[in-house]
Amino acid sequence: MKKTWVCLWGLLLAFSFPGYAQKWLSAKKIIRVDARSILNRDLNLGNGSNNRNSFDYLPDTAHLAHFPIRYLKVNVHFMNARNRAYNYDGEAAIRFAKELIDYANRDLQTNNQLWLPYRQKLPVLPPRYQYVLTPRQANDAGIYFHYDDQLYYYIHKGPTANLYDTEVLDKYQIQKDTVLNIFIMPHHPDSMRSAWYNKSAGGVGVMLGNAIKMAGMYEGHQPAWAYRGVLNHEVGHFLGLLHAFYGDGCEDTPEHGNPCWNRTTNAPCDTAASNNMMDYNALQNALSPCQIGTMHARMADTNSYERHFLVKNWCIRQPDQDIVVRDSVVWLGDKDLCGNLTIAEGGVLSIQARVSLPENARITLLPGAVLRLGSKALLHNACGLEWEGIDAPKRFLAARGKVFAAPGARIRGAKFLDY
Ligand SMILES: [Zn+2]
Repeated sequence: MKKTWVCLWGLLLAFSFPGYAQKWLSAKKIIRVDARSILNRDLNLGNGSNNRNSFDYLPDTAHLAHFPIRYLKVNVHFMNARNRAYNYDGEAAIRFAKELIDYANRDLQTNNQLWLPYRQKLPVLPPRYQYVLTPRQANDAGIYFHYDDQLYYYIHKGPTANLYDTEVLDKYQIQKDTVLNIFIMPHHPDSMRSAWYNKSAGGVGVMLGNAIKMAGMYEGHQPAWAYRGVLNHEVGHFLGLLHAFYGDGCEDTPEHGNPCWNRTTNAPCDTAASNNMMDYNALQNALSPCQIGTMHARMADTNSYERHFLVKNWCIRQPDQDIVVRDSVVWLGDKDLCGNLTIAEGGVLSIQARVSLPENARITLLPGAVLRLGSKALLHNACGLEWEGIDAPKRFLAARGKVFAAPGARIRGAKFLDY
């Protein structure tokens, strides 16, 4: 069966690739400056967002711990008629919602080899983001039920199509500015009786700014995992991705006309089928490096709308999130660390980005360690809190760790700087 999805997406700003990173790396201008001279310099994060290079935000598979997982807050609403006849209800609904999120998260933990470009074997990077069901109160699971004969249904085409209507959102959204609301809706009963209406057992979805509507789950009679691709696709739109098949700003996602629903042994679908999460296909379980970087650039942008929907696990130090740099590492994309940062002997960390340290976390430079702050470096706490600071403990006969800072580097909110 040919299945279709209808999707709406926000405007994605064009990314530019200024190449400043390479210029900075080759510059010889890094000089030692007194720490206090770069304290609390005027903060200007304003012009960074339009120039974010998605390739600065690729998870570094050699140092995955340096790339904390982002957690996107979601909740789930089941829309139903007052007679409760058209959707999952009660325990069955709660189980369905939890399984849907769980299976969607599993695809995002592993990623898969992209089928397109055919035979090019793009790197398979871990997406490094997950969904977390977010209650409003301690006694609510973040799963809600609404019985409303006027607003419960979804019609994705025809003269009465209502997929873009926001009335149901206006009435039932919960924590709409900080939690992505997912509405699981039935197709209208009249649509289900109609021969021409595409019931789409694979599910349909639409992203409407701060909410997602999904339909066809109950009528499709498939387990929750069958709809994980639809959910991940719509969240991909929320996190700034366009459809991969046309003009998405990513050079590693080839343009095509979605000719194939799935791979077959016959031409053209032996070579032309796609499994990209942002194309239309049966799997929707693979992301390109550029797509992953694009979403993370958006999530790291302190001015972005989407960032409000993340769990702020970077404010306060989290257990098991301390990281150690032992070799030469360069950070070009903004980061929100969740624990202590230690640079070991022989480790050289070069930062040309905004890096947030949690409250009560510190940067420790062990003897022989080097921290280089480029002209665009900013060390701070992204929640406006103070963090501990930079420490380079003295050891007998050993060279202390060193900090080199280029003009323009900034350190904000540090309680001490001892190096
Ligand atoms: Zn779409």
